[in-house]
Amino acid sequence: MERRYLLRTFGCQMNEHDSERIAGLLESDGYRAADDPAEAEVVIFNTCAIRENADNRLYGNLGHLRPLKERNPRLRIVVAGCLAQKDRGEIQARAPWVDVVVGTHALPALLDLLRRAEREGPQMDVREYTEVFPSALPARREVAHHAWVQVAVGCDNACTFCIVPLVRGPQRSRPIGDVLAEVQGLARQGVAEVTLLGQNVNTYGRDLSVPGSPARPLFADLLRAIDRIEGIRRVRFTSPHPHDFTPDVVEAMAECPSVCEHIHFPLQSGSDRILRAMRRSYRSGRYLEWLERIREAVPGIAVTTDVIVGFPGETEDDFEATLEVMRRARFDQAYTFQYSPRPGTPAAQMAEQVPHDVVQERFERLVALQEAISLGRMRELEGRSVEILVEGVGRKGGVQGRTRTNKVVHLDGEIPPGTFLEARIVAAHPHHLSGELVRITDRPQARREPEPAAVG
Ligand code: SF4
Repeated sequence: MERRYLLRTFGCQMNEHDSERIAGLLESDGYRAADDPAEAEVVIFNTCAIRENADNRLYGNLGHLRPLKERNPRLRIVVAGCLAQKDRGEIQARAPWVDVVVGTHALPALLDLLRRAEREGPQMDVREYTEVFPSALPARREVAHHAWVQVAVGCDNACTFCIVPLVRGPQRSRPIGDVLAEVQGLARQGVAEVTLLGQNVNTYGRDLSVPGSPARPLFADLLRAIDRIEGIRRVRFTSPHPHDFTPDVVEAMAECPSVCEHIHFPLQSGSDRILRAMRRSYRSGRYLEWLERIREAVPGIAVTTDVIVGFPGETEDDFEATLEVMRRARFDQAYTFQYSPRPGTPAAQMAEQVPHDVVQERFERLVALQEAISLGRMRELEGRSVEILVEGVGRKGGVQGRTRTNKVVHLDGEIPPGTFLEARIVAAHPHHLSGELVRITDRPQARREPEPAAVG
């Protein structure tokens, strides 16, 4: 009988990437995807500790599965990802019907843990060190034309609100030859767009050494090397830290035709006092200067950001400083978050937590300002022709694609994913654009060889 698995993913792009590898591992062992837990032999929750209420959601989901597990003792329940790394033994203490807890560094051991759970009972592997990058594992990608490529794991910074250093550890970069081999394999598969992933992606390579050479491959070198790979037409990366956005990276972005005209440039706060309390190593003036330099070097570049409202100790003046930076920066989009403490982070221990009603009121003002700015940015594109890579069916019919500047465009018609086309923008909305097909420029590339076995 066919064995089936059900995989639920919570959280960020790094988790989506890990989920592709979890699915790939299970499918390489003969499992097939299921839609319903009742059909599955293995149910996996790939968790994220960055988002609010992650633990409540996880334990709620685990509670729903308990009766099913009681009826079907052959069902294996797995908790993977950041919460598994952070909460460790606590998960099986609170939900003893969980069979496997697999941390962020232990994904390659998943199949082995499942087999051992069958023979010996509950298993846990929350090792502290990445020996094999998840990118080295087989992948089951949702779309044929796009791939996530992990270039580093972990982070050497210590932002006081962030759980990442605790759950993903210090930065470890993949050797550049391994990354390039993976991207070359993807290009031969017909992948046209890659997104390079790292918690602090622009410090890629600082922890690498090349035997016999003082030189280290850095992020700018990686961008240039990927740009030379035939078939890769769009390169994106996330997330960079403003402090590490060095001139060589800006030059590489400007020089490399495949590197898209979009950066995610997390501001977090416009108040220097709050930036200091967050342990962000830049100040608002420097941030705006860097932004200007990037916009000069890469004309037309779109800039998105993250902003946290209500960090402990944030006053009305601090919040006004954030609004002022947002007015000056005129971001294309902003991902806005209400601060909520993450247990285990320094900020969670800080006095002066801001009352929820104050945070809510500031949040609404911030969102209203950004919506107006976003709409203004979108309107600048009305009447213009843009290149779009089709991603799939749109939410309201037709198709949905993305510009090089990472703007979502809806079009009428049936056009296969992976198609490049030229469209004219006919209407702007705060979060998407409506376009009309001008002409198809390139059909999707057919797969030319099986899924590459990436190297670690
Ligand atoms: S740089 Fe990013 S990942 Fe690293 S600690 Fe700060 S917020 Fe977290």
